Amino acid sequence: MRDVAEWDLVIVGAGPAGTTAAIAALNANPSARVLMLDTADFPRDKVCGDGVAPHSMDVLADLGVPVTELAAGTRPITTLSLTSPQGLHAKRNFARPAFVIPRALFDARLVQAAQRKGAVLRRHRVRTLVQQDELVLVDGTIRARTVIGADGAESVVRRQCGAEKPRAGTIAIALRGYTHAGLWPPGEQRLVMASAHWPAYAWVFPAGDGTANVGYGELIRTAPPSRADLTARLYGLLPDLPPVRLRGHRLPLSPGRPCVARGRVLLAGDAASLINPLTGEGIYYAVLSGALAGASAATSDPARAYRQALRHRLGRHLRHTDILARLARTPRLVDVATAAARDDQRAFDRVIEIGLGAGTLDLSLITMLLTALTRRSGEAL
Ligand SMILES: Cc1cc2nc3c(=O)[nH]c(=O)nc-3n(C[C@H](O)[C@H](O)[C@H](O)COP(=O)(O)OP(=O)(O)OC[C@H]3O[C@@H](n4cnc5c(N)ncnc54)[C@H](O)[C@@H]3O)c2cc1C
Repeated sequence: MRDVAEWDLVIVGAGPAGTTAAIAALNANPSARVLMLDTADFPRDKVCGDGVAPHSMDVLADLGVPVTELAAGTRPITTLSLTSPQGLHAKRNFARPAFVIPRALFDARLVQAAQRKGAVLRRHRVRTLVQQDELVLVDGTIRARTVIGADGAESVVRRQCGAEKPRAGTIAIALRGYTHAGLWPPGEQRLVMASAHWPAYAWVFPAGDGTANVGYGELIRTAPPSRADLTARLYGLLPDLPPVRLRGHRLPLSPGRPCVARGRVLLAGDAASLINPLTGEGIYYAVLSGALAGASAATSDPARAYRQALRHRLGRHLRHTDILARLARTPRLVDVATAAARDDQRAFDRVIEIGLGAGTLDLSLITMLLTALTRRSGEAL
C-alpha cells in the first residue's frame, strides 16, 4: 500500500522564514494541511539585532499581515548614523523608516498570524528526514508531501538533505544585549565599523520603548574569536556602554549562489544561508524566501518553482553582494561608500537598498562611488 501524506507541508522552524512560509502556503491553498515544528515555545528570544527593514514589512503586508500589528509598542526609526572603518561619518534619513522590534515579540506575532491562517504549531525537535518517492518522512513518524527547512543557522534539515558545507569566509559571529536607550539620540540606528578585525561593526538599535539592542559582530576568518575578544571589541567601539548581559550566535552569510532545494525539501532563511554578507541583515531574506517557498510548496514541482522564484527576486542581488563582500574585505571600499553616502542622499539610498533589500550594483552607483573616491583622493584625511 502507498504511504499517504498526513500533512501537505511540514515546516521545520517557526521563526520569520517558517511562519511566512506557512502564511504563503495557506494563502495559496486555504485548505492545505500545514504543520510548523519548533523546539521552542513562543514567545521565545532569538539572538538578533532586532532591526527590521521596511522591505520585510512589504513582504508581510503583501501576505496580509498588518505592519501595525507587528510593530505595536515600538517606534519607527528615521535616521542612520554610519562610522566607517577609517572614522568617516555619514548621517542621513532613511527613504522609508525602519523598525526595531524585539524578536521575542516579532516572532510570536508572526506565529499567531500563521496560526490564524490555519497552521498548526507543535513543539518538536526535528532530527531526521528521509525522502521517499512522493513524500518526506520526518523523524520516522510525520509524513509530508513537502518539507520546508526554516530551522535557522544550525539547520538540521540542511545537513539531512546533504547540502554542502558553507564556503570559507561565509560565517560571521555576533553577540548582543539590551540596555537603556538614553545614552544615544532617539529614533536613530548607529553602526560603528571597526578597522581592526575587519569586516566587523558594533550597533545601537533603539526600539522606542526606552531600551536599545546593542551588539558587535565580525566575519570568522580562521578560528572563531573568543567571547572575551568579542566583548572587548564591542566596548572598544562603544566605550560608554554600561555592562550588559550578552548572548552570541553564528550568521550564515550568502555565498552568492546558495543551495535552496533538494527533491521535496526546500530551505529558507538562515537554513539556506541567505544573510546579507555586507550587513548581516537576514530577516528580509528570511521572510521573502519563506514566502516564495510557501507559495511553491503546492505546485507539482516545488523545488523547480522555488528556485525560479528566488532567482527572479534575488538572483542578481545575491551575486552582486557576494562580489561586493569580497571587494569589501579591504575596508577602503566601505570608506568610499560611506563618503558617497555622506555627500549624496541618492548614494545613501542605494547603499541601503543593497544592504537591507534587493538592491544591485549598477552604473549610476559605480559613478557615485568613483566620484566619492576622486573627491577623497583630494581630501586630507
Ligand atoms: C547577533 C545577531 C544580530 C542580528 N541582527 C539582525 C538584525 O538586526 N536584522 C536582521 O534582519 N537580521 C539580523 N540577524 C540575522 C537574523 O537573526 C536571521 O537572519 C533571522 O533570524 C533568520 O530567520 P529564520 O527564520 O531563518 O531563522 P531563526 O529566526 O533562527 O528561526 C529558526 C527557528 O527554528 C527552530 N529550530 C532550530 N532547529 C530546530 C529543529 N531541529 N527542530 C525544530 N525547530 C528548530 C528555532 O527554535 C527557531 O525558532 C542577526 C543575527 C545575529 C546572530
